[in-house]
Amino acid sequence: MKPLESTIGSMPVASLPAPPPVKAPGTATHCPYCALQCGMSVAATEEAGVRDVVIAPRAEIPAGAGGLCQKGWTAGELLTNGSRLTTPLIEGRPATWAEALDHVAARLRRISAEHGPDAVAVFGGGGLTNEKAYLLGKFARMALRTSQIDYNGRFCMSSAAAASIRAFGMDRGMPFPVTDLAGADTVLVAGGNVAETMPPFVRHLARMRERGGRLIVTDPRLTPTAKAADLHLQLAPGTDLALALGLLHIAVAEGYVDEDYVAARTTGFDAVAISVSAWWPERVERVTGVPVALLREAARLLGTAKRAMVLTGRGAEQHAKGTDTVSAFINLALALGLPGTEGSGYACVTGQGNGQGGREHGQKADQLPGYRKIDDPAARAHVASVWGMDPGDLPGPGRSAYELLDALGTPGGPRALLLFGSNPVVSAPGAGRIAERLAGLDLLVVADVVLSETAAKAHVVLPVTQWAEESGTTTNLEGRVLLRRRAVAPPSGVRSDLAVLSGLAERLGHPEGFPAEPRAVFDELRRASAGGPADYAGITYERIAAETGVFWPCPAEDHPGTPRPFLDRFAHPDGRARFIPVNHRPADEEADEEYPIHLTTGRVLAHYQSGAQTRRIASLVRAVPEAYVELHPDLAERLGLADGDRVRVTSRRGGAEVPARITGAIRSDTVFMPFHWAGRASANLLTNPALDPVSRMPEFKVCAVRVEKA
Ligand code: SF4
Repeated sequence: MKPLESTIGSMPVASLPAPPPVKAPGTATHCPYCALQCGMSVAATEEAGVRDVVIAPRAEIPAGAGGLCQKGWTAGELLTNGSRLTTPLIEGRPATWAEALDHVAARLRRISAEHGPDAVAVFGGGGLTNEKAYLLGKFARMALRTSQIDYNGRFCMSSAAAASIRAFGMDRGMPFPVTDLAGADTVLVAGGNVAETMPPFVRHLARMRERGGRLIVTDPRLTPTAKAADLHLQLAPGTDLALALGLLHIAVAEGYVDEDYVAARTTGFDAVAISVSAWWPERVERVTGVPVALLREAARLLGTAKRAMVLTGRGAEQHAKGTDTVSAFINLALALGLPGTEGSGYACVTGQGNGQGGREHGQKADQLPGYRKIDDPAARAHVASVWGMDPGDLPGPGRSAYELLDALGTPGGPRALLLFGSNPVVSAPGAGRIAERLAGLDLLVVADVVLSETAAKAHVVLPVTQWAEESGTTTNLEGRVLLRRRAVAPPSGVRSDLAVLSGLAERLGHPEGFPAEPRAVFDELRRASAGGPADYAGITYERIAAETGVFWPCPAEDHPGTPRPFLDRFAHPDGRARFIPVNHRPADEEADEEYPIHLTTGRVLAHYQSGAQTRRIASLVRAVPEAYVELHPDLAERLGLADGDRVRVTSRRGGAEVPARITGAIRSDTVFMPFHWAGRASANLLTNPALDPVSRMPEFKVCAVRVEKA
């Protein structure tokens, strides 16, 4: 068995046991980046007029297990970075805040009056705090009366969210504490590379391995996570669904199904059992490229484990069939009796910093706070009563993220866009087309910390505060609500996103109802979410501080919170989970003569999402300075390419130019590009915006490309 210890980058990330608590001076808060939300102490220092920020991990936050990754250790540089925006800009010219907000409000009023309220759109982000996500949704529906709001989390976890709602009646990404992983006997990570995306997560897997537990990883690449696994299923991109069907086929055939659990806690098994009967192992091998023996071994490890977990990441989810793929993995977990069983389960490994909370409180096109549906009359009546408006005045569902971005500036589409916490010029699929759409707008307003690639295209740029300069809550990947505290003073000239919304709402005729104070917003969010699936009514800032986080649902202040919501029943009215019959289908775009190679995209340890933050951190840039394309040596030889050659990668959407990295860690029919870079190095110039019919997730993980020497 290989040791599960990541040595990527300069930081050891999985050494055991966890380090003793660091008694660091400073303010207790959380990392600005991923959904693990590792705890950290942040202290500002100043010597000879030079500001610095010292960061130390907090061992008392269980998810991070007392660790930080390279991104977390260096996050202090975000606070002292010289490229920080500190003055509002109108058409590139410095302006006062009063000028900028007056100008934006006047333009919004005019565009809305001339073209109707849906001519103004709002786009948010999965990194925004719960307070910001909530107020942004309220601002769109109440102050602007627009239905046109969505957010970049649609590009991350939406397929897993949709599949969880179908199966369990509720999406609480990981419905158990992440520390439960250590007690499992087998863990399957389908399409996740946690050793690079959230290294301290590996500590929980390492503890599992120390007890003799087994790790299975499915990935087209031999990633650091796959290298550490007992079993690596190196499937072809876009075939995750067939793989899951095949594993369930074997589980049924080999007698691994937990029949008592299926009878007592689920419905719909028979139809699913029939549907997987056609996915015999040899057929699955032909489709996925994974040998039958490995499929059988994976099914055996899962089927004979006393406690097992099935986790999905973006590799399985970011497809035009992502919802069905996750449903297939959930079907497998249900057949084995895992969800809602202590020590076992299914979970989505949420990616963005507030990817869980950000999808609960109303910045999604079809949603109201508390994970309520916007077309549910009772939900509309409740939220409208909290907001003091007539439910009939609440807009209905709007366009999903890609559809919204693609409609900008087109006939019948929005003429203005307000954008918070997102950089779609780099992160949206088919990014070249989205840049053209943004350029066609009458008004683009971007609130950001730095001049991101999207902010650089804006008519108005509003400089805002960031993580350790402000307070607010996030909800980590396990559904635990955490408190980010203000640890350092923001630079003069910047305002919080909440203050921006408050100032705009006032100018649009709402002097009340849009407080800039995070606690006031959170207290209203608690009331708005009360009675909904994501019920925060009993969660207070004081409780979060005293209890190192509170799990939702938490309907009352004397309620303990709910670490494992499905132990007694699932959230469907009859308390049972649903098997959902699904079938495999090819990727939207298959390799062909013109574009003969699969491209898959993903992340690297040193960078985060669109790279707007991490590409400005010197040590992270040194670690991975530029984008690249990974190719197998056989493919490189066929194409006449050597390591380091400049390579042109072309798809039906556009072309990118990057250096080649030749590695045996990838399939010979597939190339890989990380997506954190902009301009000619942008992987998303190539990706396919084909959408999942349920979640509206784009097909980031597979498209067809041509590769040649530049
Ligand atoms: Fe932890 Fe994620 Fe921050 Fe790394 S990026 S320190 S894993 S929260």
